[in-house]
Amino acid sequence: PSFTEFGLDNRLLLAIDKLGFETPTPVQQQAIPAILEHRDCLVSAETGSGKTAAYLLPLMQKLLVSPDKAIGIKALILCPTRELAQQIFGQCQQFSEFTSLKTGLITGGSDFKKQQTALTHNTDIIIATPGRLLEQFQLSTTYFQHLNVLILDEADRMLDMGFSDDVLRIVELCNNQRQTLLFSATLTHFGVIKIADKVLKTPKVVAL
Ligand code: AMP
Repeated sequence: PSFTEFGLDNRLLLAIDKLGFETPTPVQQQAIPAILEHRDCLVSAETGSGKTAAYLLPLMQKLLVSPDKAIGIKALILCPTRELAQQIFGQCQQFSEFTSLKTGLITGGSDFKKQQTALTHNTDIIIATPGRLLEQFQLSTTYFQHLNVLILDEADRMLDMGFSDDVLRIVELCNNQRQTLLFSATLTHFGVIKIADKVLKTPKVVAL
């Protein structure tokens, strides 16, 4: 298998090539086509499996091929820690290098003004930790009314860290027509099963 089989935009293939990725990993092989078909997905994937690219590449593809004229956040990625958010942001920058997609990062310990700008100024993708997002911003549905895709990364860890209520509060603010993707190291985690039932609509399950 190769990345060209997914029908990805040349701007993404260029970035993949520059990074030296040759073959999609197993989670990428299964998740990328399902995400491109706009399905909700429940994916078991560990760090190191290539899970970040498994959602970022089809997400960016969707944003590139059907550019939404509406101004506003198109995708929200929630994850448990600042460190992980920074890693995801780094990969986002790499994959979007040849595009004009804009990504913002909202986590504890960085500049509030800059983060405010990310939320309100035509940013396509926001990567955030749930606590910070709720704590610092008087969030309303207006921020996420054009949201097409919501991604919960390392959902098991987010729940173990006590973010369950925060995640559900954020989900409530999101456009109900959205596509939702849930990534977790394990799918047998009670909290993950519960939240998956609440936020996913007839998901494709990718369990490796
Ligand atoms: P992740 O599991 O998303 O944390 O990714 C782990 C690392 O694998 C990251 O540094 C990625 O850049 C890299 N990676 C992801 N997909 C591939 C691939 N198909 N081929 C080679 N490296 C990859």
